[in-house]
Amino acid sequence: MANKNLIERLLILKGNMSTRAFARLVDIGESSIRGYLNGSNTPPVEKLLKIAKPFKTTVEWLYSGKMPNIKDIDNKCLSDLYRADPEVIDIESDKNKIFPVVRTYDDLKSQLHFYCIHCGKWHQHGRGGPDEPLQLGREGYGGGHRISHCLAENSPFKVRGVILEVVGEFTDEIKNQKPKETPCFCHKCKKYYSTALNACSCGFINKKRRNKYPYMLDIYMKCAYELAGNEKQEIDPKKNQHDQNTSRPPEINNAEPSTENQWSISEMLVMTTEVLESKTSYRSALAANIRAFHEAVKNEEGMEKLNEKLDKLLKENRAMAERMARMEKRLNGFEEPSPQKREQNAG
Ligand SMILES: [Zn+2]
Ligand SMILES: [Zn+2]
Repeated sequence: MANKNLIERLLILKGNMSTRAFARLVDIGESSIRGYLNGSNTPPVEKLLKIAKPFKTTVEWLYSGKMPNIKDIDNKCLSDLYRADPEVIDIESDKNKIFPVVRTYDDLKSQLHFYCIHCGKWHQHGRGGPDEPLQLGREGYGGGHRISHCLAENSPFKVRGVILEVVGEFTDEIKNQKPKETPCFCHKCKKYYSTALNACSCGFINKKRRNKYPYMLDIYMKCAYELAGNEKQEIDPKKNQHDQNTSRPPEINNAEPSTENQWSISEMLVMTTEVLESKTSYRSALAANIRAFHEAVKNEEGMEKLNEKLDKLLKENRAMAERMARMEKRLNGFEEPSPQKREQNAG
């Protein structure tokens, strides 16, 4: 059966490329690629490896489509997400950090308001006070940098907050221009996700809901596959430890361990075959290792089987002993008649 999500991700990688160009890039026949894209064929793992390679992503991502923790994505992806947001009017940078500047309105009473496409609502931030006059720009009353109030767990504003730039008065007309969206809740993770991305970091994409910003989801998924590729190349053990302890969301580590093992096993098998077929010294080294490990595993399995057999024998032995004891009792009964019987016999 064709995996619809897999097809979706293949289409993301393909982008605007023609099928022929895509086929040439991944070095797979054009007719095979057509089959994968229209769902009449499912690519085997060695083809997925070929597809993942030029895009620097992983077979795991092609299968699972796990999205990144929004705080892990790099500045390039982050700025792409900000740029795609119609409410972001500028991006400020400070050393290695970037900040989105959002279109903000002043109600002249107590609050500054900006419309967040990820929460589908207006967010409020306090202004200087009720008597302060309207002041446009980023440095007005209450303008400037603020931490995010986003409910959506994967809102890009959660990375470093927002910079408010007051552009005018918050009137009813302005307020009613923007819809109030129902928050999107992922039942799998019990978390709210962005209404603009229309997808949760666990990989869930809400296909039943109309997405007003489909290009945003494309950017988010592109961030995900690039991040998956970068993670795979990560070899600094300290960095890995840090990631596992803090910034990686739990669902990425824990979800579907059985299927994940399966993929890596097939991936391993393909790589193992490639090494064994190569005419290098690695081939004999790997063969020797495989033989040694295989023997060790078989020995361990053999021990387990022996233990199982022993357990079974012991149980049978115990049952036999009980039966023997019962039979002995009955036999004793025959040899030594009960006192009543003896009396009867005597009488
Ligand atoms: Zn928000
Ligand atoms: Zn989720």
